[in-house]
Amino acid sequence: MTRTADLALRHAETVNGGTLPGLVTCASGISPSGPIHLGNFRELITPHLVADEIKRRGIPCEHILSWDDFDRFRRVPKNLAGVDDSWERYIGMPLTSVPPPAGSPHASWADHFKAPLLEAMAATGIEVREISQTEQYRAGAYREPVLLAVRERTAIDKVLDQYRTLEAVEAARQKTTGKGKGGKGGGKAATLTEEQAAAATEAERGSGAALEDDGSEGKAGYFPYKPFCTVCGTDFTTVTAYDDDSHELTYDCTKCGHTETVDLDTFTNGKLVWKVDWPMRWAHEHVMFEPSGVDHQSPGSSFVVGKDLAPIFGWERPVGPMYAFVGIAGMAKMSSSKGGVPIPNDALEVMEAPVLRWIYARRRPNQSFDVAFGPELQRLYDEWDALGRKVADGTAQSGDLAAHLRATSTATATLPATPRPMPFRTIASVIDVTQGDEDQAVRILSDLDPDNPVESTDDLRPRLDCAERWMLGYVPAEDRTVVRTAPDTELLGSLDEQQRDSLRLLVDGLDDHWSLDGLTHLVYGVPKIQRGIDPEAKVKDPELSAAQRAFFALVYRLLVSKDTGPRLPTLLLAVGADRVRTLLGV
Ligand SMILES: [Zn+2]
Repeated sequence: MTRTADLALRHAETVNGGTLPGLVTCASGISPSGPIHLGNFRELITPHLVADEIKRRGIPCEHILSWDDFDRFRRVPKNLAGVDDSWERYIGMPLTSVPPPAGSPHASWADHFKAPLLEAMAATGIEVREISQTEQYRAGAYREPVLLAVRERTAIDKVLDQYRTLEAVEAARQKTTGKGKGGKGGGKAATLTEEQAAAATEAERGSGAALEDDGSEGKAGYFPYKPFCTVCGTDFTTVTAYDDDSHELTYDCTKCGHTETVDLDTFTNGKLVWKVDWPMRWAHEHVMFEPSGVDHQSPGSSFVVGKDLAPIFGWERPVGPMYAFVGIAGMAKMSSSKGGVPIPNDALEVMEAPVLRWIYARRRPNQSFDVAFGPELQRLYDEWDALGRKVADGTAQSGDLAAHLRATSTATATLPATPRPMPFRTIASVIDVTQGDEDQAVRILSDLDPDNPVESTDDLRPRLDCAERWMLGYVPAEDRTVVRTAPDTELLGSLDEQQRDSLRLLVDGLDDHWSLDGLTHLVYGVPKIQRGIDPEAKVKDPELSAAQRAFFALVYRLLVSKDTGPRLPTLLLAVGADRVRTLLGV
């Protein structure tokens, strides 16, 4: 992010004639057409982190979030299609004019999908100035650039035409290959592999942008502006005539048959086509940094075309890296009730806010990664805690230190942290074994370190809640731990003298070792004692290791009827000394 911020500042100086402008503007643009998932979150958090880095340097900077809520409702989502065909009638209307899904407390389709992201932003310290495209267009804020685009439609058409055929795209691609476009990964558009290009085309098709009329389907020649029909509210309209002197525009609606002549000096119920709308807004908002997904940077796509269109509006295309896809790990096993693509709020159910920031902040934007919802989540917390210890004792590398700072704070605030960050996997194991009985879980967690007991459960939050939601909501039943209710008499009856001896040594030591540390020493020590080795001695001996593994497996089988489980000291604490004695038959 340091280098990306450097790049944004250099560009800001260039467009401002050599000195930094009074305000550096970084932008995000998001369409609230459906759930805004963890991949879309990168569109938001990348400019946030860059703007934040610039602010930390004491340079005035603003992060704007343009809501593309004046976009058309493109299609009925799969879960509604065929179930409720009445949604078909909204296709072609602005997202702000479509009602929300059934049961939603929000005013519109757009508001319904904006709300969870706004919550996630508040939780993760992301501050923006929101701009609603519906409000902007309807208020006439873009009147001048709309008239300009219409006046310059021949020039716009000429630019777009260069990209319309595949041959032209290929020619432009050859010409720009190897020429840096600025930004890490910014030049990637020119060097996409065939596979990436196919994925990009697929993604753009998915977002609808590739299919959107670029203005060339009009009956009055190329026209970059599309009115929504006054009668039916959709954009199934065709401009049939335009008078450059009076600004009178006539359109036909192919959906309801309405024909109307409006005056573009006063009419506000329409918008520029997407490929023209985006560069217009760069100019209107003076955007200097805006990243985009691979879908917008493929040859002939909006970011590429925008380079040539922005100057028509008197601006330069902002710099911004292409950000890579974000995948999801561990969802295959997720409980079916969660269904669908996870959104940032789903991640915040199981991740502390700084951890969620960290998984984005520690990667370069052009690196793809997976957000973990499966067992990998425990390793993620281990890594996070290890980094925290390095930061605390001053041994963290500078890059890691910067990522930690960006994760735990912003230029203006420190994010809430868990005061007593016990290992996530330990808390999860305790919750697993106690079946979600929180009082019991807290008692056991207090036993982990008797010299430093847990004073208040508040000290364990939010991590305790994250671990609880993860264990109870995301870990599949077959991976949960079920402690036996009665001793396994058959197994106990088959043990040899050496095995029985090991269990006796363990049980006899329980009371004196009743803490996480103590029990760790005890369980590793029992096989040592049996072999005549000092339990405190550090020994590397393959035979001893094998004996320890066999001993652990025996204890697991007797306690939970499996060969493995939560770490043994944690499991013993969670099961409780009395029940351990009963199940081990000693
Ligand atoms: Zn109509």
